[in-house]
Amino acid sequence: QAKQAGKNTVRMFHANMSAALQIKVDLENDLHEAILNDRIELHYQPRFNSDGSICSVEALARMRSRSGELIPPAQFIPIAEETGLIIPMGEQVLRKACRWVQDTNKKLKKPISVSVNVSGIQLLDGQLCATVEKVLKLSGLAPEMLELELTETVLMQNQDAVLQDLNKLHALGVILSIDDFGTGYSSLATLHRMPVQSIKLDRSFVSDLPDKVDSVVLSRTVLAMAKALGLKVVAEGVETSEQRDFLIDAGVPELQGFGLARPMTADDSRQFVWAQQITSDSAKKILV
Ligand code: C2E
Ligand code: MG
Ligand code: MG
Ligand code: MG
Repeated sequence: QAKQAGKNTVRMFHANMSAALQIKVDLENDLHEAILNDRIELHYQPRFNSDGSICSVEALARMRSRSGELIPPAQFIPIAEETGLIIPMGEQVLRKACRWVQDTNKKLKKPISVSVNVSGIQLLDGQLCATVEKVLKLSGLAPEMLELELTETVLMQNQDAVLQDLNKLHALGVILSIDDFGTGYSSLATLHRMPVQSIKLDRSFVSDLPDKVDSVVLSRTVLAMAKALGLKVVAEGVETSEQRDFLIDAGVPELQGFGLARPMTADDSRQFVWAQQITSDSAKKILV
């Protein structure tokens, strides 16, 4: 009887495995098709100066599935990376983001910049710089209006090859920043060697502000370190007015988070940015 149960268990395990595998294969096929059929959508989340004006937006990819639902990046980026589809997808994302900000800036007195997330796979591919150069030329966007958000992990591995490409991107005039800063293990020495201009303080530091002493100490330490290295700090994941006030008091010049503005569709975010600059007198009442 034990043997029987064992057999059943094994069979169930196999059944589950193939179901999970099937979901993955389906998603992979859907992603491939989504890239071909323009079903990778970009939503944009505004980033604010401490005075409440918008300085930038972050482009965030979503996949519109065959059945029309919106799939979050946590579900398809890992597959895109595993399959190499991140390369063509990444180029599409860059093109769209640059075109969006160019079009948006036509109606703005003070132009905003756009930041695009870049996977380590794109950087290790060796073509990123050429792609960025091509996309900038095509869109006419000034290089300093494009920011690339990199993760700490990629900066830590394969340092020399990566460093060369980063230097080329920096020479183009593109802004480089480190995303989710504080969650990885980059050392001061590494950071100092990289042509990086800013860091995005990870949401996990922000979420317990201002009440939890550890978070206060950690965030202040990161800020002091960034200052010493001449890096700009952007706080991400700002959800409450207390967090906002603490960060502004601590000297963080730029903030992003659901409490200020959520990611919005391309159309909605453009309207949001336009409306916000028109009413820039009331910008000080940031939304939280
Ligand atoms: P990320 O670059 O750190 O982007 C910020 C994520 O946090 C976004 O999630 C955003 O919606 C969310 N967020 C913003 N403010 C808040 C807040 O106040 N509270 C909370 N709880 N969350 C907030 P999203 O859009 O699901 O993206 C997740 C991650 O997927 C991104 O993290 C980024 O690493 C990756 N990703 C998104 N688009 C792309 C892309 O085009 N290429 C690549 N390689 N990765 C991308
Ligand atoms: Mg990011
Ligand atoms: Mg983060
Ligand atoms: Mg981030």
